Amino acid sequence: MNTHRPKVFVVCDGCGQTVPPEHWRRRIERLQWASRFRPVHIRQLVICEAPPENPADELYLPATGADAPGPTHWLVEAFLEAYGLPPAVSREVLLKTLQHHGIFVAEAVECPVEPSVRDRLLVERERILYERIRFSYRPRHLLLLTERLRALPEWLRESAIPYEQLPATAGPRVIAAALK
Ligand SMILES: [Zn+2]
Repeated sequence: MNTHRPKVFVVCDGCGQTVPPEHWRRRIERLQWASRFRPVHIRQLVICEAPPENPADELYLPATGADAPGPTHWLVEAFLEAYGLPPAVSREVLLKTLQHHGIFVAEAVECPVEPSVRDRLLVERERILYERIRFSYRPRHLLLLTERLRALPEWLRESAIPYEQLPATAGPRVIAAALK
């Protein structure tokens, strides 16, 4: 055992897991990029379950393409359709367009998670997500791209926060139609 360079594990505030420094570094990087494109007033907040495993598929990294089929790819297609942008538009222009329209995308669990713990973490993070929605994002509308959150819809109704809910597998057309 190498006692000179101990590996420091911390509890991540994005996912609640005990994680190595590399996980934490990526979490901060994602936060920094997302905050760069966060609208001052969020008109519609889009909530996904968790960020993609592959950093190259992240929505808020302007240099990436999200070419792999999956939720980020479908979201990008939905945004292109909703805002009449050409498919070849740069990621930076797309993100600035979303910001201009008051659209912000966030995740229920803010870090990529293994499929085996996904459901458990989604439930564990539900209350924290609700508080992020109420006290930080304060959106006018909410689009939930998951049907795995059990308590949140009821809390949203109690708080009179308007929302629409679609399955995580919803395709671009369906998502585009739900964008405000
Ligand atoms: Zn985390």
